[in-house]
Amino acid sequence: MPRVTFNNTVLRDGHQSLAATRMTTAQMLAAAPILDEIGFSGLETWGGATVDSCLRYLNENPFDRLRALKKVAPKTPQIMLLRGQNIVQYTSFPDDVVEAFIRADAAAGQDVFRIFDALNDTRNLITSIRTVRDCGKHARGEICYTTSPVHTIEAFIKMGVELEELGCHSIGIKDMSGIMTPHVAYNLVKELKRKVGLPVTLHTHDTAGLGAAAYLAAIEAGVDAVETSIVPFANGTSQPDTVRMLALLDGNPRRPDYDPALLQQLRVHFEDVYQQLSAFTSPANERIDSDILVFQVPGGMLSNFRNQLAEQGMADKFDEVVREIPVVREALGWIPLVTPTSQIVGTQAMMNIKFGRWKMICQPAQDIALGKYGKAPGPINPEILAMVEKQTGSKAVTGRPADLLAPGLEGYRSQCAAKGLPVDDETAVLFAMFPQQVEALVKGTPAAPPAVAKAPPAPAPTPAAPVSPAHSNGGAVRRMVLTIDGQRHEVGVEKL
Ligand code: MN
Repeated sequence: MPRVTFNNTVLRDGHQSLAATRMTTAQMLAAAPILDEIGFSGLETWGGATVDSCLRYLNENPFDRLRALKKVAPKTPQIMLLRGQNIVQYTSFPDDVVEAFIRADAAAGQDVFRIFDALNDTRNLITSIRTVRDCGKHARGEICYTTSPVHTIEAFIKMGVELEELGCHSIGIKDMSGIMTPHVAYNLVKELKRKVGLPVTLHTHDTAGLGAAAYLAAIEAGVDAVETSIVPFANGTSQPDTVRMLALLDGNPRRPDYDPALLQQLRVHFEDVYQQLSAFTSPANERIDSDILVFQVPGGMLSNFRNQLAEQGMADKFDEVVREIPVVREALGWIPLVTPTSQIVGTQAMMNIKFGRWKMICQPAQDIALGKYGKAPGPINPEILAMVEKQTGSKAVTGRPADLLAPGLEGYRSQCAAKGLPVDDETAVLFAMFPQQVEALVKGTPAAPPAVAKAPPAPAPTPAAPVSPAHSNGGAVRRMVLTIDGQRHEVGVEKL
């Protein structure tokens, strides 16, 4: 077997996992040429929450960041994390907006697109995969890993085969919660390599202390690449550290050969940056905690949850709410817990405990039941679906969700023009997702970043004034504010 290669995540997932995505372009630029010199098979530098963070907190143009990084690190392919039809947001966008976003990003220098869907519904990936291919870039189709009665090795392999048929150049296994055991990593990689003729990359987190061991097992099974970061933006809720992983592979014929002196230089640089970002780091994220294996939910979600429940005066209900999460997941077809479904499931679990099970259903949870996010991996509980259909007066959709959306790009362009903003693709696609932030950035009137904000707030349903009279079924409609990764959404909830 050839040597395994490492992709480095310090410029994206490393600081997203451990420093609330607050690393600035300036903090990256000194390290990028060193990262480029080492010979990693890829540098994850973009996507996920970084676009949002650039605009919302750092007053930076995310496309300028990419161009700046490409300039100083031209040799190593640069990777972005793309949420399929959600782009880098939480709701679906029309195909023409997704296409324009990918074209703009490819033109700015993006090389590899890691494309995932929170429900593992490949129909939500089709447009992205096709467009990335049309741009002559690398499409890496991601399989979101989770555990449930319907998430069998066979189901994951079936998805891998589909991704190959859809034209992906490689397959990624995305273990966002860091719950994959070495045993599963071995079997999954072995089977994927047997059934799918594409390179396979494993991406995990060391949240529960399994990450490095899962990588070792995957390397044994023939995985082509794994993803590591650089201490102190490594380990804990981030990816395993590069130096640590190299030591674990000592004597292994598949061990890659990366210059230890350069790795040491990176460590020194990032120690400094970590200090500078200390307002956004937290010991809870740095430690290894096997709680996650008990509760089967992402580590970041657990720590957010503690804060959120405290804000709601429900701190004493933590265990009860966390135990409700699998109940909600099962009813909603065992959806994986990854942005944005993790926030939605968490909020619904909290509402089940606060108001009684399924007494109030938040709108995003209704939308999941109605298939508006795509097809859930398992069946939606028929009683819950009937309840939601009655409440909303709409029937579940079975087609590809984006087929229901009219083209939107020209509309966003006109909105940009009306506000005196540029009407190029870059501005229009960012405006589609972050209108106020883009306007503030272009006009040079950005809101002052919060002085000592910690991680983005967790979803917090804050009861607001009741607005609507009694509903036809006799239940009262109430408005609630749901905050998902710092964005406020007003939703209607009904009491049955
Ligand atoms: Mn990740």
